Amino acid sequence: MVERSDGRTDLAAQGAGADVVAFEPEARVWVTRAGAAAGRTGLVPVPRLDGSLRTDTGTLDDDADDFGHIVHEVPAVVLQAESADDVAEMIKLCNDYRVKAAARGQGHATYGQAQVAEGLVIETGALDGIGPVAAGQVTVGAGAVWSAVARETLRHGLTPPVFTDYLELSVGGTLSAGGLGGQAHLYGAQVDNVLALEVVTGTGEVVSCSPTRQPDLFHAVLGGLGQCAVIISATLRLVTAPENVRHFLLPYADLETFLADQRLLAGDQRFTYVEGTVEPDERGAYTKYVLEAVAYGPPAGPARDDGELLRGLRYDRSGQLTAQTLGYFDFLNRLADGVAALQQEGFWSWCHPWLNLLLPGDRVAGLSRTLLDGFAGQDVGPGGVVLLYPLVHRRLHTPLLRVPDDPVPYLMAVLWTLDPADQAAVSARTAANRAAYETVRAAGGTQYPVGSVPMTAADWRGQYGKLWEEFDAAKRRYDPHRLLAPGQHIFTP
Ligand SMILES: Cc1cc2nc3c(=O)[nH]c(=O)nc-3n(C[C@H](O)[C@H](O)[C@H](O)COP(=O)(O)OP(=O)(O)OC[C@H]3O[C@@H](n4cnc5c(N)ncnc54)[C@H](O)[C@@H]3O)c2cc1C
Repeated sequence: MVERSDGRTDLAAQGAGADVVAFEPEARVWVTRAGAAAGRTGLVPVPRLDGSLRTDTGTLDDDADDFGHIVHEVPAVVLQAESADDVAEMIKLCNDYRVKAAARGQGHATYGQAQVAEGLVIETGALDGIGPVAAGQVTVGAGAVWSAVARETLRHGLTPPVFTDYLELSVGGTLSAGGLGGQAHLYGAQVDNVLALEVVTGTGEVVSCSPTRQPDLFHAVLGGLGQCAVIISATLRLVTAPENVRHFLLPYADLETFLADQRLLAGDQRFTYVEGTVEPDERGAYTKYVLEAVAYGPPAGPARDDGELLRGLRYDRSGQLTAQTLGYFDFLNRLADGVAALQQEGFWSWCHPWLNLLLPGDRVAGLSRTLLDGFAGQDVGPGGVVLLYPLVHRRLHTPLLRVPDDPVPYLMAVLWTLDPADQAAVSARTAANRAAYETVRAAGGTQYPVGSVPMTAADWRGQYGKLWEEFDAAKRRYDPHRLLAPGQHIFTP
């Protein structure tokens, strides 16, 4: 048995049942049961790396947590990768000894999706190169965050077409999920705007893929929840950026009119960005609707006045309408000040058992009413919000981003923020998330898999439907030992 360098108990002594027994960073050896069982000395040399391997308690504990603060799986080793070769070498080693591994971008998943009990976490933070920007595209490292990508491309008057609401998420993390935002009705998800990828597969091969070059791998990685490969870099399509945008918040008094106007705007494309929120009234019933619409100005769009932009919309004339002109980056980065305040007040580190569902458009009124009624009297918490907005199916081309079979599916995201002192409430919320998912699934909906919904292997089969066989085949081909991203619980060992 090998003593761990940080003095923590050897995993074998804990009877943890993992293949990894211990890692000795100074001696650069990784000790595994499999190594010993294979008649080796039990000491496995770890390759020379550009980055570093960490086993200190602080790093392990950080990577045994995420934005949800609900699941805590402690890894054995953390790779702070600095090159594709680092990732490839370590994944090959994981294959030799059947050690599970997952990439971690910003750790903003909410239910352990990037965690690996007793395995290897691959931190991508240092893989954050951006550029050069040329010919309407840019290649960025998987660890780059979207705010940095936007800042760099805007120096050239260009922008990725679609952004998540919050910009401090990694490119690799959102491309693994999908990447939805208010521009998606026009441009599809972030995954629909990727031209090429460099990845390390689950067997440790470094591969460049695109819609024409190893397309099966390309399509298994985008929206693929880290199951077949680790993204090292992505080549992104760029479009002309506006200098300023006109930003509206329009109040609605009833759900049907709100949804109908959103649908109208998703179709007529007068706004580049369309989202919406639902808020509780004084009695705690979720009956106040706010449509958020943003028109891009020159050079990305024509100059238009408010009358032209709002024509035909049936918002509540007696409610509070706001309209303001914002610099484009300030609009993209609009959550930053609020997040800073939540961080200062400590609420940013509260538990986030988020619910993210995709509802079929033809059932959205009834389904969202049922779900919203279920939340009555419950506060989503400090900084929490209920999002409800339309997508346009024909803009969504990425097979593994599973959306309902409907021309205008809607995203409903309930971003709960709960006090970690009340673990009973957190558990009750994840159970309620599960029930809400079942309701939506029964009506033809899916989950957008970034939230905290307990899922079984059978649920995942249902989520992928007729694509399951293809996804399973890609998993067998590119990660035959089923080592990657076990925290998603998609493929059973
Ligand atoms: C405040 C906040 C706002 C958000 N807003 C939006 C939004 O508007 N729209 C939206 O679509 N989503 C949104 N999300 C969800 C977010 O897009 C996903 O949770 C995303 O996966 C987080 O990125 P990350 O870098 O933190 O990934 P992590 O949490 O580190 O990882 C998430 C999953 O992706 C895998 N992964 C990470 N990097 C790679 C890689 N390089 N290669 C392969 N797999 C990888 C991990 O293994 C894990 O399975 C939001 C999340 C938060 C916390």
